[in-house]
Amino acid sequence: MIPFLDLKAPYLELKQELDEAIARVVSSGWFIGGEEVDQFEAEYATYCGAAHAVGVANGLDALHLALRAMDVGPGDEVIVPSNTYIATWLAVSQCGATPVPVEPDARSYNIASALIEAAITPRTKVILPVHLYGQPADMDPILALARKHGLRVLEDGAQAHGARYKGRRLGAHGDAVAWSFYPGKNLGAMGDGGAVTTNDPQIADRLRVLRNYGSRVKYVNEIQGYNSRLDPLQAAILRVKLAHLDAWNARRRAIAQLYQDGLTGSKLTLPHVPAWAEPVWHLYVVQHPKRDALQQALTDAGVGTLIHYPIPPHLQQAYAQVGWRADAFPLAHRMANEVLSLPMGPHMPTTQGSQVLSALLRSVGADD
Ligand SMILES: *Cc1c(COP(=O)(O)O)cnc(C)c1O
Repeated sequence: MIPFLDLKAPYLELKQELDEAIARVVSSGWFIGGEEVDQFEAEYATYCGAAHAVGVANGLDALHLALRAMDVGPGDEVIVPSNTYIATWLAVSQCGATPVPVEPDARSYNIASALIEAAITPRTKVILPVHLYGQPADMDPILALARKHGLRVLEDGAQAHGARYKGRRLGAHGDAVAWSFYPGKNLGAMGDGGAVTTNDPQIADRLRVLRNYGSRVKYVNEIQGYNSRLDPLQAAILRVKLAHLDAWNARRRAIAQLYQDGLTGSKLTLPHVPAWAEPVWHLYVVQHPKRDALQQALTDAGVGTLIHYPIPPHLQQAYAQVGWRADAFPLAHRMANEVLSLPMGPHMPTTQGSQVLSALLRSVGADD
């Protein structure tokens, strides 16, 4: 059996360092904020090439609080991809604002920058691209549009820790980047965690107040804030893992290369990597018109796969009140029916990669 992702392996590789980090926090008696969180924030900001990192409780809160820090509220519109994890949309809705979906580029799966301008209205406040599957979105045209129309740019980096756009790591291309440290992400905690990186001192300052009950000084509350803090245990764990992130991303790249080499010329549509992109392969996603049969054949062959994502946000019950038609966003709809994520992770042996390849080539062949 080849699992889609092995979440025990990272602990086994770093057991001693992680056990020490956990023991350090437990024996310190300091369980909210403090040194570990401050240190992780400093180290992650440096890693991302950003002036500030602010830890929060999870990726959804990172998106939501970053939008709040940008003053997004009722009546505002935020441009989002039509094909993303629903968190990107929910963060906008939690502000009382409206997510305005824009279709992806059919090859890169990231928001099609050429379609964004038509979606801008006098109510638009923020453009929210997602670096989907670990591949950077095309930031320069998005930033140019934002400058032209006086908009903010918040990036959803939940799947792209360490990815580079035109040679520079993600972290401060737009006004802010929201990160998730959910266990399965490229930089994953042993529980929930999140952060926002930014070069804007005002956004960083607002986030620090928002995440802590709207308070800077204990029992003095400036605004109606939230409780959304990064746990020091998770911060200590993340500090250990951050030191290994580049090496782990390199191992993902090797698996992606194996897939790319083995599947070129097959009937599968493979990920397209633009010349300026250095993706970190959070997911390796192939596309096939008979996706469900292919997934079943792989399951039968003992290969674990997942679908990211089976239902696009506009067709979720959660957004039924908007009344979107299924064909309102045909590309997002088609992706939901045709994409398949192959096993991928830094601890996946290359022998398993080869087994995935042969099972895949057998199945695709049998399908013709
Ligand atoms: C994981 C993810 C999130 C949400 O992160 P959580 O930590 O689970 O709240 C947001 N956006 C995208 C694209 C994600 O993949």
